[in-house]
Amino acid sequence: MKKHDASDQPFDDSVQQSEADEVLAGIEQSYRTLFEAASDAIFIVKGNRFVACNQSAVTIFGCSNKNDFIGHSPWEFSPPIQPDGSDSKQKAIMLVKAASDGYAQRFEWKHIKKDKTFFDAEVSLNRLTLDGKVYLQAIVRDISMRKQNEQALLESEARLKEAQQMAQLGHWYWDVKTGDVDWSEEVFKIFRLDPNTFTPQIDSIMALSPWPEDSQRHKELMDKVITTGEVGTFEQRFLFPDGSTGYYYSTFQGIFDQNNSLIAIQGTVQDITDRKMAELEREALIKTLEQKNAELERFTYTVSHDLKTPLVTIEGFLGIIKEQSAIKNLPSVMDYLERISNASKKMRTLLQDLLEFSRVGSSPGDYQSIPLQNIVDEALELLKPQLEIKSISVNIDPNLPVIYGNKERISEVIINLIENAIKYIGSVSDPQISIGGKDTNKDTVVYVKDNGIGIKPEYFDKIFRLFDKLDGNSEGSGVGLSIVKRIVEVHGGSIHVESAGPDQGSKFIFYLPHPRD
Ligand code: ADP
Repeated sequence: MKKHDASDQPFDDSVQQSEADEVLAGIEQSYRTLFEAASDAIFIVKGNRFVACNQSAVTIFGCSNKNDFIGHSPWEFSPPIQPDGSDSKQKAIMLVKAASDGYAQRFEWKHIKKDKTFFDAEVSLNRLTLDGKVYLQAIVRDISMRKQNEQALLESEARLKEAQQMAQLGHWYWDVKTGDVDWSEEVFKIFRLDPNTFTPQIDSIMALSPWPEDSQRHKELMDKVITTGEVGTFEQRFLFPDGSTGYYYSTFQGIFDQNNSLIAIQGTVQDITDRKMAELEREALIKTLEQKNAELERFTYTVSHDLKTPLVTIEGFLGIIKEQSAIKNLPSVMDYLERISNASKKMRTLLQDLLEFSRVGSSPGDYQSIPLQNIVDEALELLKPQLEIKSISVNIDPNLPVIYGNKERISEVIINLIENAIKYIGSVSDPQISIGGKDTNKDTVVYVKDNGIGIKPEYFDKIFRLFDKLDGNSEGSGVGLSIVKRIVEVHGGSIHVESAGPDQGSKFIFYLPHPRD
């Protein structure tokens, strides 16, 4: 047989039975054994036609014998179009050409069996020289099963992903040896982080929860899980990239090797921000309700107690008047009538103040932005006579803020605080009242300060309670600061007093929230 150089063998498409026999005969014994014993289908291709195949080819393609292939083209055993949309014949010619040029090819291919059913295959195309002639060897491996498994896996992964999305549940895996942390897509979503810019590592993850007490608790739980091998759970606060606070719930467990040394820790993360927010809101509401309840109890007690006092006075003196009238002691009767009249006046004032207190209600009414300067000017105009009588000088911050609230009510607050400052200025030689305020990131702060009699720290809370006054003989009824506090709180703000003690002056500071967008 004449030896040929591989490169000078042109491909042609006609295959004679004699040539097929010649090729088979030319295959060396060892290759022949391999060829026949292989469980994959093996074809020898010349040009674009099969010139030989093994028995597995017959079996895999469901053919009757090898003659079903010899002289036929590969695309005759393929659907016209491949799953990637390419034309089977065109693509097969291209692949055969590339392999013939010495570029081995490996690709997936859709085939048709004799019974017209399809199967997926992995095909390797290599150039093969047999007895000096150049052929192609095509090894066709049936991968239908693998494909089905892959498809099933893809589907189950998709379902799992969908379920995790619905449950807002992510999972993570921390390789403790390398320090690498793997996050599922959902974890990035929960933390609102971009997988392209955020690398999950222990330090970067811990930085999401910058509260030392939380980190400490987290560390203790991790240690427990590592030492006991138990499943751990925790709820943790974290910061979203916009600075707002979120909450997640995590379950996690250590993974150990045969020597019981820790390899990794894996866990789940569930977004519980909405639930937690609702819980916190409910807790805050309960707390407010408890406070209101206590306030109400105190209020009922105080009202009944304070209103009873003048009544007791009135009743007492009425009794004495009866006795004194009987013995016609008119001068003392007149004195007692005077006392009764005072007690009833006192009661009227109390009732008026009480009415005023209840009028403040729980809603501030119309809100508007008002320059504090206007309110202060009006209040000072109203209180000018009292200020002059006591020769009090007033210093006003030139940059008073604009406040947001009900004008009438906020005026009431300012008037009340200045009135008190005047009332409790005492006998200081240089009486002064200062009024100021500013906007902060959080709210608007306003203060009214005096250099008067001051307040002992133990009374800082007491003075804001209804009917509570520190000096029983002072002129007021002890309702003013209760009304002030109520108005500020109804606006969503808060008030407190600062004083270094008796004769050190007092500073009343209140905070009003900024308008909501
Ligand atoms: P009233 O002034 O009618 O007694 P308030 O509720 O306005 O009632 O004040 C309660 C108590 O707080 C006052 O009785 C007084 O003892 C104390 N107080 C209020 N303002 C001042 C102030 N600027 N300096 C010192 N004590 C004050």
